[in-house]
Amino acid sequence: MKAIVIGAGMIGSGIAYRLAEAGVDVIILEADRVGGGTSGISFAWTNSHGKEPRDYHELNVSGMKAHAALAEEFPGQTWFHASGSVAWRKTPQDREAMMENFERLQSWGYAIEWIDRKQLAELEPDIDLDHVGDAMITYCHEEGYVDPVVYCDAMVKAAQKRGAKLRVGVKVTDLAMRNGAVTAVKAEDGALYEADVVINCAGRWADTVARDPGLRLPLAPTTGFIVFTPPVATGVKRLIHAPDVNLRPDGAGRLMVLTNAADDLVSLDMRPSPTMPQALDVMRLASEVIPALATVKPEAARITARPIPKDGLSAVGPTPRVKGYYVVVTHSGITLGPYLAKAVADEIVHGRTRQELENFRPARFFN
Ligand SMILES: Cc1cc2nc3c(=O)[nH]c(=O)nc-3n(C[C@H](O)[C@H](O)[C@H](O)COP(=O)(O)OP(=O)(O)OC[C@H]3O[C@@H](n4cnc5c(N)ncnc54)[C@H](O)[C@@H]3O)c2cc1C
Repeated sequence: MKAIVIGAGMIGSGIAYRLAEAGVDVIILEADRVGGGTSGISFAWTNSHGKEPRDYHELNVSGMKAHAALAEEFPGQTWFHASGSVAWRKTPQDREAMMENFERLQSWGYAIEWIDRKQLAELEPDIDLDHVGDAMITYCHEEGYVDPVVYCDAMVKAAQKRGAKLRVGVKVTDLAMRNGAVTAVKAEDGALYEADVVINCAGRWADTVARDPGLRLPLAPTTGFIVFTPPVATGVKRLIHAPDVNLRPDGAGRLMVLTNAADDLVSLDMRPSPTMPQALDVMRLASEVIPALATVKPEAARITARPIPKDGLSAVGPTPRVKGYYVVVTHSGITLGPYLAKAVADEIVHGRTRQELENFRPARFFN
């Protein structure tokens, strides 16, 4: 079987690896560079917080387990950090929402527990406890984060080791079809790449790889804004979710910081800069949580878009009108990447239907 994977982000690179592992003849076509899309600008928290309905929650929990299993499959791997996460909430409204979320997650068997200020200080000594006050605090020890580009590189190289070919700088512009089945993809430079099956893993660009509007997955991307510190002398080890700001380590002492509010203050047509007021404001909020950041200026700021199918849920599976054309587009793609890689390869190679994906089929958009 010959497969073409379009896009070498968190989704495509893992799928390419699992297909190559199963003996499929794989070509990865990447318009830009490995991990250079949304995956390269992601908070990359592996979690299933507030992910509803229940089957979407379960899918994300499977994603978290798949990360732990993959880390064992690749001894010495450097992309997955099983760090755990802490969160706290202060206002009556936020406490109520946190309590509701806690009870729901606990009743679903999720690893979440209440901790007190002393335990928080032991886990993350750099947090200003005065800022935490008498907040309600949770700890989720099974959550973690990923360095997505490191993951993508490792998956692509593992696929190449099993015979897969990587072509970077190749932008797919259309599908070629015969008798209702995909036969090849067409690239911008006119080249044709033949395949029995094409897997569209182009993330937020997934609706641009086929010219036929009837084959385009409807997307509802949202803008994301992330600020990066220079290396700083803090011992932050985990994901920290304060009421107004989220942060985590980003290697060599750097921290990655984001707020929900700042997402609404940027747009894709802006040129991100560490001196833009939005970036300075995000840093100010972070320094209220970690006083050691008080004199730290942002080193970089980045703006990107989340690849979100129109109804907010994952779209994973064949498209109904064309044989051999499979789509895998999702938010929470960092959490879900390794799990979907195995499930999708299993469906494509062995023709099995994975029941856990049945409510997430792209067919729901093509009736
Ligand atoms: C600010 C922010 C925070 C996030 N936080 C989290 C989080 O905490 N946890 C989590 O699980 N998820 C999170 N996400 C979502 C997650 O990052 C995405 O779901 C994931 O990165 C999607 O991966 P992907 O491989 O589908 O897309 P991408 O990484 O964008 O990969 C798609 C690739 O396809 C290539 N491509 C596009 N068009 C073509 C074409 N025509 N031909 C060839 N190649 C093409 C692109 O160049 C790109 O490399 C976050 C996203 C954002 C923006």
